[in-house]
Amino acid sequence: MTGKTEEGPATHRGVEAFDKTRGLLREHHEWFKTALPLIASENVQSAAVREALACDFGGRYAEGWPGERVYAGCTYIDQVELFAMELARELFRAEHANVQPISGAVANIAMYTALTDPGDTMMSLSIAAGGHITMGRKKFGGAAGAVHGLKVEYFPFDEKRMNIDVDAAAKRIAEVKPKLVMFGGSLFLFPHPVKELSGVAKENGAHVAYDAAHVIGLIGGGQFQDPLREGAEVVTCSTHKTLPGPQHGMILCKKELAEQINKGVFPGMVSNHHLHAVAALAVALAEMLEFGREYEAQMVKNAKALGKELYDRGLAVLCPDQGFTASHTLAMDVTKYGDGGTLERRLEQANVILNRELLPWDPREGRHFRNPGGLRLGTQEVTRLGMKEPEMEEIAEFIKRVIVDGEEPKRVAADVAEFRRDYQKVHYAFESATEAYEYVRIH
Ligand SMILES: *Cc1c(COP(=O)(O)O)cnc(C)c1O
Repeated sequence: MTGKTEEGPATHRGVEAFDKTRGLLREHHEWFKTALPLIASENVQSAAVREALACDFGGRYAEGWPGERVYAGCTYIDQVELFAMELARELFRAEHANVQPISGAVANIAMYTALTDPGDTMMSLSIAAGGHITMGRKKFGGAAGAVHGLKVEYFPFDEKRMNIDVDAAAKRIAEVKPKLVMFGGSLFLFPHPVKELSGVAKENGAHVAYDAAHVIGLIGGGQFQDPLREGAEVVTCSTHKTLPGPQHGMILCKKELAEQINKGVFPGMVSNHHLHAVAALAVALAEMLEFGREYEAQMVKNAKALGKELYDRGLAVLCPDQGFTASHTLAMDVTKYGDGGTLERRLEQANVILNRELLPWDPREGRHFRNPGGLRLGTQEVTRLGMKEPEMEEIAEFIKRVIVDGEEPKRVAADVAEFRRDYQKVHYAFESATEAYEYVRIH
């Protein structure tokens, strides 16, 4: 309702709208205190990261390079950005770091801009094989094709091993001679053959890039492959998945490519670059330097344990003969019990938050992303809540009750909420006065 009424003064539409918005935010926070967050691309932020996100930088501009800004008022902004770059170089042993991309998608498009021209060919994973939409062809609306005009050739993929087929890929690279070979993906269970294929790629005139959006935290914690040491010239990433920072992006590269990459980012892709997120990234990198190794190691142990517990309960977790995963992620084929979309919703009603996943063979069998055959889970967030291997058994049991036993989700939800009561702190973080998912009121 707006405007004046006959009886009295104007109703305060704005005040109502503020209350309503804040009410919804509070409800979200309350819900997440009682849920199992298992979406592989998310994480919970520490109080220190959230504090940085709320700082004044979020209202400022700093276009350009530190020291060469086109705006005044950047004295501290410049120092924080330079420090974030320094921390990134240190943690990932990178010759150059650019912390200006405002997301992983923006990092990828900036990298395409820096290293390729429209009409060039890139080789990457297909979406069904785990590639990200930013690697997609034009006809699917993917950024590589639709935004930068790249032709996209897919890596030959070994569906059983859930990895790039090295011999077939080497042959294909020699035939196609792409300008860019891009490793990495969104369903990323095992290290990609960067060492095996970088040489062939470079001999055939390609740049070698690696999209570490999912696994950059694991890389920083020394728990996955190390693409910059294995032949990748550029690593793009998000900073909010296994690296529990703000929603933002980052590019690491060899110093020979630094200038091109910087230009691809600005003026190529960003104007303001979300300075509060740069500040929060510096804080998240500091946390990683302190706690990263321990956190990321536990995350992988938890993923392997959860894979086994689910498998032992009859769920078709992929790659049992390879230990299910070497990362934070698991995938299962749930076609025996229904489709991924329906089960995702039932699990959500049970306070188990995960997402459906298109599996490599789904398109061939007539399934698509709305109702695919798979579910994807990640252990990065429950690990940060302090859970270890014994808790993975309990999580597997909740999932099994919904999927295998077909139990009423609401009943499971109550048990999930009860279980979650003991896990309300953010671990692997600096001492904090607030709990995980606490709604922090500063107004
Ligand atoms: C999540 C993801 C991205 C995009 O990240 P945003 O930060 O959401 O833009 C890019 N590539 C891969 C492989 C991803 O999984």
